[in-house]
Amino acid sequence: MIIFVGRSNVGKSTLIFRLTGKWVRRGKRPGVTRRPVEVNWRGKVIVDMPGFGFMSGLPKHVQERIKDEIVRFIEDNAEKIELAVLVVDGKAAPEIIERWEKRGEIPIDVEFYQFLRELNIPTIVAVNKLDRIKNLQGTINYLAEKFGVPHSEINDTFVPISAKFGKNLDGLRMLMEKKLKEGKRTQDAS
Ligand code: GDP
Repeated sequence: MIIFVGRSNVGKSTLIFRLTGKWVRRGKRPGVTRRPVEVNWRGKVIVDMPGFGFMSGLPKHVQERIKDEIVRFIEDNAEKIELAVLVVDGKAAPEIIERWEKRGEIPIDVEFYQFLRELNIPTIVAVNKLDRIKNLQGTINYLAEKFGVPHSEINDTFVPISAKFGKNLDGLRMLMEKKLKEGKRTQDAS
């Protein structure tokens, strides 16, 4: 099983459409509990998790509930999850992370990344909306520092893409295949 996680509006649905040819979520309505949705990809199950974090019109307690449900799903399925793709908006993520840190909170993307790694789930960070990122290497280095990814693992963790414009999706597919092949044990040994 491969899971896709990310804040709402990062381009997760567009990305899954690009990879699988299927639209997993249309007509998203905030406030309605959005269950994980499954699609097939190269003989594996891709699970699209509900988007987390702020959505306009969605009260805080509902955001919290969605987050808790995602965490529970991941914990309950940790053994089965071979790979996680955390999708971030490469333009917005640094600003959002900065804002959370100023408030003294752990940014939700950072929290999810570290949570996945603690469960020993191989994780790729798809840095989406490449077309809108001004300083790509700077953005990736910034995210790596915040996520606690060592320099030597940056290229095997972060992959810049544009879901909308179909940029570097082969790069993402290749990294997904590589991580799936490596499995969980080699990650332990590093
Ligand atoms: P989700 O909420 O994460 O599933 O996000 P969607 O797939 O619905 O996309 C949210 C918005 O971001 C839509 O307007 C997409 O067209 C747009 N989007 C997705 N990928 C890209 C991208 O690579 N570049 C830009 N500029 N916009 C994108």
